[in-house]
This record gives sequence, C-alpha cells and structure tokens, in this order.
Amino acid sequence: MASSYDRVMADIISEESFEAEALQFLESNAKPRVEVSKAWGEGSDSAVLFAERTAQEEMADLKSAQEWSRCRFDGGFGWITGPKEYGGRNLPSSYKRIYDALESRFEIPSQAVFGIGLGMVAPTILAHGTELVKRRYLKSLYRGDIVACQLFSEPAAGSDLAGLQTKAVRDADEWVINGQKVWTSGAQISDIGEIICRTDPDLEKHRGLTGFVVDMHAPGVEVRPLRQMTGGASFNEVFFTDVRIPDDHRLGEVNGGWTVALTTLMNERAAIGAGGGGVGSLSTGRLMEMMRHLGRANDPLVRQQIAEIYISSKVAGYTNMRAMAKLKAGQLPGPEMSIAKLTLTQNMRRTCDFISSVLGPKLVADSGEWGTYAWSQYVLGVPAMRIAGGTDEILKNIVGERVLGLPKEPSARFS
Ligand SMILES: Cc1cc2nc3c(=O)[nH]c(=O)nc-3n(C[C@H](O)[C@H](O)[C@H](O)COP(=O)(O)OP(=O)(O)OC[C@H]3O[C@@H](n4cnc5c(N)ncnc54)[C@H](O)[C@@H]3O)c2cc1C
Repeated sequence: MASSYDRVMADIISEESFEAEALQFLESNAKPRVEVSKAWGEGSDSAVLFAERTAQEEMADLKSAQEWSRCRFDGGFGWITGPKEYGGRNLPSSYKRIYDALESRFEIPSQAVFGIGLGMVAPTILAHGTELVKRRYLKSLYRGDIVACQLFSEPAAGSDLAGLQTKAVRDADEWVINGQKVWTSGAQISDIGEIICRTDPDLEKHRGLTGFVVDMHAPGVEVRPLRQMTGGASFNEVFFTDVRIPDDHRLGEVNGGWTVALTTLMNERAAIGAGGGGVGSLSTGRLMEMMRHLGRANDPLVRQQIAEIYISSKVAGYTNMRAMAKLKAGQLPGPEMSIAKLTLTQNMRRTCDFISSVLGPKLVADSGEWGTYAWSQYVLGVPAMRIAGGTDEILKNIVGERVLGLPKEPSARFS
C-alpha cells in the first residue's frame, strides 16, 4: 500500500492546495506557538548565540530534533525543493517559503543541529557527489537520520583554506587520509563529514585539492572537543590516521576540490547571512526596553546608537532580500552572500557596543537583575560569528575586489 509520503510525491499540487495540506499536517503534529511576553522582567532573558549544553542535553536535543525531522519528511515536507529521485518533492522554492512561514507558527524542536548538513553539505553532495553518494546520504540527511559536519579548517589553514595539508593518497579504489582538522562544529555528533584534502602537493595550491564524504565512525577518526570562551564545547579538533575512503565517496574531480569547497562556502555564507540582520532587528525591541528600564532613554549618544542599529538592520534586511531574490531566480550565489554575512556581523558588533555602554558593569558582574548579565553570552558569542564562514576582513576583501572593483590583494603562492 502506498504511504502518505508516496502519495504526496506523486502529486502535482497548486500552491493553495499545498498550503492547506501543510497546515493540516502541522495542526495534526505540532502545537501552535505561544507568543512569549516581551515585557521587561517577564519570561526568559536568554540572549545566547551559541547554546551551552552538556553532552546529555545535546543528545536529548538531537533526539527530539530527529523525531520532528522524520515526522516532517515522512509527511512530505522534509525536502520540498529536492529532486524526486533522491527523496525530494521537486516543487519550486515558493512552496518551501509557504511551508516555512506556516511552520514558524508552531512549536517545533530546534533544527539547528542539521544546519551544516542541510545548509552546506547536502547542496554540495547534490552538486558534486557520485550517484551512489547522493542515493546513500541525501534522503538520510533531509530526514534527519544522519548528521553531517564540515571538515575544512586546519591549524594553519583557515582564511587561506587552499593552504590545507591533510593528505589523501590513492590506494587502488580507496584513498588513505592522514592529517588534522580544527574548529569542526558538531563533529562530536556527526555521522558523515565533507572533507577537503591535498591530493597533489606538486600542483599550485588551489589545484591540488580533492573533496570527499568521510564516515565519521570509520577506524582512525578521532574527535576531541574544544572549549570556547562562552563555556560550551560545540566545536572540535578531528584527527585522521590512515582513514580509508572509497573512491566512490569522492566529490567532483580528483584535484578539483577547490570548486567543491567554493560550492560549500557560498552556501555557508547564504545560510549564515539568511538572517539578514535578523538578530539586529529581532533584538531592537529588547534593546529599547533595556534603554528605558535602565534610565538611558534620554541619553543622546545611546539613542544615536540604537537608531544606527535599527537603520542598519533594515538595510541589511533589504540587501539580503536582493541576494535571496537572485537565488530564487536560479542564479548562483555571488558576492551578495558575502555582503549579507558581513552586514549581519557588523550589526551584531554595533549591538555589542550598545549593550556595553548601557549595561556597563552589569554586563560582567551577575547582580541577579533580569535582562542584564544574560547579555554577556551574546557579547561573548559575537566574535565567533565574525570569524565563522569567512572573517569580516576576508569578506571586506571580497566585497572590495568583486563588488567595488578595487585592485586585488597580493596573494602568497607556493614557490
Ligand atoms: C563558531 C565557529 C564555527 C566554525 N565551524 C567550522 C566548521 O564546522 N568547519 C570548519 O572547517 N571550520 C569551522 N570554523 C573555522 C573558520 O572557518 C575559521 O576560523 C575561519 O576561516 C578563519 O580561519 P582562522 O581561524 O585560521 O584564522 P586566520 O585565517 O588565521 O585569520 C586570523 C586573522 O587574520 C585575518 N586575515 C587572514 N587573512 C587575511 C587577509 N588576506 N586580509 C586581511 N585579513 C586577513 C583574519 O580576518 C583574522 O582576523 C568555525 C569557526 C567558528 C568561529
């Protein structure tokens, strides 16, 4: 007998019918979202950018995220835009927007744990993976059965990613991996990783790289957590000792790994920038409340700061809409993604300056007062946002060179 999933896969559906079907699915499987009070002193005053959780809490979060992800996928809403042959529904992105808008009105477990897998690794597999890899992993990723991480950065290769040194050496129809990656978010709970390795040290550095999908449970993979200044340990060092990857798990051509990495990085900037100043605009109301309750509402300098945050979050939102319109029109993400990420993090920095000047010592000493010390988690998290997915300085170079047409930065090359 055909499952409900098979039935919806077979449907060609109007937007109106799709919306009705999605609403029925959500009403049957989730509770409507309860509006949280925004009044000063009421509800949670949490302002975290990176959730700090114990290993047990992390596993519990993963379990509930997976339960929802499976329910959504089996209901026909897990991969609305994906090709049917790999488990998607092959509908235009407007249908995905309809679903997302509806889902945001319901209480569902955070899906953040799938952010890297779905935002970056899955689109790269779809673009560059072998047929076997697409069939083995795409549906499992979108159904939340597996979690993926991004194994790019190394101790001596971050911004200069093409300088990475983790080696992959061919052995018949396998590759043998040796080396170290670092800052790998979510590696501790990942089942697969997208790794870029050096396959030909004699070629110019951007050309001697190859991408693979690696099994994170394979012998020789060792994950060691790194504790960050916010207190949590959400990223890791990952060591590879004689780890074997079948050649059919290669992404793209041998020595074509730079193109594979760029696909992932563009999707990463799109995923991070998709907030388009969202944090700035979301928090403006809370910042105004803070300003009033701490008696700073008439301070002209503080008022000027909040006006700048408000204006730049609006501008960031419009810039982001332009970038998203390009994506929706089927064009490749370009420098707009860099602008989107840069404007988001610049506004976060402005927000930090505002919070610091209004809260003063209350930001660093916990007086127990609602809505004060809690912001220290935000301030401590912002530097990471300014580094992850391309640092502010690197993005400024991209904007300077590719948008404004300024002369190119001199780049170091292997001799
Ligand atoms: C929260 C978080 C999550 C992350 N998750 C992952 C992950 O899952 N997988 C992964 O592979 N990596 C991850 N990273 C790593 C991230 O991609 C790197 O930290 C980033 O690319 C910067 O590299 P780096 O840390 O080696 O700094 P460096 O490249 O050494 O840069 C140091 C400083 O020099 C500046 N700089 C470098 N080159 C130039 C230049 N040409 N012009 C001007 N200034 C320059 C930089 O802007 C920076 O301020 C994560 C990082 C963070 C903060």
